[in-house]
Amino acid sequence: MSEELKRIIDKDPDQKEFHQAVREVIDTVQPVLDRHPEYRKARILERIAEPERTIIFRVPWIDDAGRIQVNRGFRIQMNSAIGPYKGGLRFHPSVNLSILKFLAFEQVFKNALTTLPMGGGKGGSDFDPKGKSDNEVMRFCQAFMSELYRHIGPNTDVPAGDIGVGGREIGYMFGMYKKLTNEVTGVLTGKGINWGGSLIRPEATGYGCVYFAKEMLATRNETLEGRTCLVSGSGNVAQYTVEKILDLGGKVVTLSDSSGFIHDERGIDREKLAHVMELKNTRRSRIKEYVQKYPEAVYTEFDSSLDHNPLWDIKADCAFPSATQNEINEKDAANLIENGVYVVAEGSNMPSTPEAVDIFLDQKILYAPGKAANAGGVSVSGLEMSQNSMRIKWTRKEVDDRLKQIMKSIHTSCVGAATEYGQAGNYVVGANIAGFVKVVNAMIDQGLV
Ligand code: NAP
Repeated sequence: MSEELKRIIDKDPDQKEFHQAVREVIDTVQPVLDRHPEYRKARILERIAEPERTIIFRVPWIDDAGRIQVNRGFRIQMNSAIGPYKGGLRFHPSVNLSILKFLAFEQVFKNALTTLPMGGGKGGSDFDPKGKSDNEVMRFCQAFMSELYRHIGPNTDVPAGDIGVGGREIGYMFGMYKKLTNEVTGVLTGKGINWGGSLIRPEATGYGCVYFAKEMLATRNETLEGRTCLVSGSGNVAQYTVEKILDLGGKVVTLSDSSGFIHDERGIDREKLAHVMELKNTRRSRIKEYVQKYPEAVYTEFDSSLDHNPLWDIKADCAFPSATQNEINEKDAANLIENGVYVVAEGSNMPSTPEAVDIFLDQKILYAPGKAANAGGVSVSGLEMSQNSMRIKWTRKEVDDRLKQIMKSIHTSCVGAATEYGQAGNYVVGANIAGFVKVVNAMIDQGLV
């Protein structure tokens, strides 16, 4: 282990997910540090792994029964070297400092890859929106924003959605921000289309991930046409990943939530996808209800005593993990390869454990890490910021064309950096190095701040 990594781990010994994300970057950028001794002299690794600012706050609110509830709110302002902090808010009971620091750290490199001027941040709360009424969600969002508003702004920090934060939550938070500041600005992205949102923002992460897979397949003169795909999750990223796979002629046979997964061998077609959207976005119910309408599919409840996830043990060509971190372990990776999967494009952040990543790299499959493959979401958030600043609105086609162009450019940067450092075809090395060099050069240009 490098001296730098040891110092970072010793400082916060309990932050496992954060260490996992930092270790991967530190391991892959060693050749860059060897080529640029000035980076080591500037102690760039320790600087880049330390958030510029961490905000932790109390969020008190009242539930429908009149009881007082108290949650914890966070915002990690990780790095502003190339632009205002930018990154989502996650509402999930598992949220803690380690998870948000890992997400904020990854976000810095991801945002650098997008070609847009955005720094990295992440935030959220251990609040669980599941089972809460709309009024409870609104009261929580208002309480959360009543503290967060003083730390963010359209030129300072622009949060967006993530797990548990979709259009509804962004709306409630935006309303509260506007009331508190008496200003209508693009302080959040993922806004509704009638109040400053961008077309294609809801679709962007899923679409972008599939565009990235398409670029990888093109390096082997192949397409998604006729390919069988596994998708996990059934939220925002998963839904639009399925939609774009269908557009490009692929077949999707799985979806999941935190309770279990459905396997539909005949394929999830557009009608079935519309039903999933209704189930998850409007009725806010569980994926197992899918089999009530489509009994040809099989629902399997997750069993925590298993050492693997059976969703990844199904014959297919491509896998699009789109639920959460560490959802593919070493055994799952081995099962995927055994079952014929040779394309893995990560819609979720850090879904593969380091051991799983090693298997993908050893097997030389087309493997795209989240910081490259799921950068489409933040890219269109960046385009939403531009439209807000210019007070104009681009058409669906204009935004989609820009998104395609950005994903293509991220792919080219990854391939270029990996090749330059003698690791052609390794998108992990490519993404880390390309993002790292851009941010580090900006940090050095701006002096010791
Ligand atoms: P979402 O709409 O809230 O959906 C999350 C999905 O993942 C749900 O189906 C959820 O199931 C499942 N899930 C969440 N936690 C889980 C857990 N611990 N175990 C198993 N399943 C779990 O969130 P999303 O926006 O699609 O985000 C999904 C992933 O993509 C996250 O890793 C996020 O960081 C990443 N991402 C999102 C964006 C974006 O633009 N939204 C951009 C880049 C990356 P339940 O309903 O049971 O909770």
